[in-house]
Amino acid sequence: MNKEFHSFGWYASKVSPHMPKKAFKPVPGRLLGGLAYLLITITGMLAIGVYDLPFLANTAISFVIGTSFAAMGFLGHEILHGTVVKKAGLRDLLGAVFFFPLLTGPRLWRKWHNMTHHVHTQHEEKDPDTWMSKDELDKKPALKLIYRLPFSVRAFLEFFSLCFLFTLHSTRMFFTYVKEFQPKKRGAVWIQFLVPWVVWIGLVFFVGITNWVFIFLIPHLIANAMVMGYISTNHRLNPYVPVNDPLANTLSVTVPKWIDVLHFNFSYHTEHHIFPSISSKYYPLVKKHIKDNWPSLYHEMPMSSALKALWKTPRVYYNGKELIDPQAGLVYGSLGNGLDPEAIEPRSLNESDAKNGIKQA
Ligand SMILES: [Zn+2]
Ligand SMILES: [Zn+2]
Repeated sequence: MNKEFHSFGWYASKVSPHMPKKAFKPVPGRLLGGLAYLLITITGMLAIGVYDLPFLANTAISFVIGTSFAAMGFLGHEILHGTVVKKAGLRDLLGAVFFFPLLTGPRLWRKWHNMTHHVHTQHEEKDPDTWMSKDELDKKPALKLIYRLPFSVRAFLEFFSLCFLFTLHSTRMFFTYVKEFQPKKRGAVWIQFLVPWVVWIGLVFFVGITNWVFIFLIPHLIANAMVMGYISTNHRLNPYVPVNDPLANTLSVTVPKWIDVLHFNFSYHTEHHIFPSISSKYYPLVKKHIKDNWPSLYHEMPMSSALKALWKTPRVYYNGKELIDPQAGLVYGSLGNGLDPEAIEPRSLNESDAKNGIKQA
């Protein structure tokens, strides 16, 4: 079957005429939500730092700070796409503020996310956020050892790693991309990277280690898990694609309405890839148009189903369209290529796979 792919610009050109004009303007009102999160965070931090609260109260406040950190990250993402304020300087300043808890600077983020992930989504080599292929894994013997662990242990480790993966990946991205900035801009990128680390680590000398764990460490891990909970469902069940087609390479998850309100509609990821520069406020409308026009191409499922499917499928691409468990020699479909999240059935490697030079690890 030869599928026809379309770029995100093609979909945008089809949907745009049906969108109201105001959808293409920045929505500074989003900042009110950000302000609320900032106030909650600062109040929580002061409560932990100033009062000698019982363990349970500190834990509960820590959880609230963590969920606020994550939501601030979602807003930071939106701000740095330019959908909240227009002026570049203000955009970067606000982006820096809202990404501060996730230890990520605005210039790095725009290069890594806007200019690379969005432009080359699910491209085997060019998308910095995509998962590796079997060919690439074969070149990394140390990593291959991990794939010798039993499937359930790997799935557990994959989920456990979500608690720190955003920070780890962001730090890796910094060292990958910092060299690519012009020398005169590199200083600013370094400063935006170092300041959050210095501030958050330095805080330990003012509040003591126990309070610091509640004020920063636990919230930071919770925020990592929350943002990665979404990010891991965004593209990891989708195939690599020859054309950056958001309907083929992206999944929108669904969550209860109140969570969409708290998380600035971050669940609408396919919509976001078609219109990264319009406010997520209008994504429910974009979704309606996509579902009217291309119902069979659009991938959507509840967040819980997406996480379950992630748990049950391996994370190595095989022939771009499937996922392979190299140890067991089992091959799983991807979205649009035979993956049914409700009934995941792998197939065994067969003769035509052998012809392609694939053998069990
Ligand atoms: Zn994405
Ligand atoms: Zn984005």
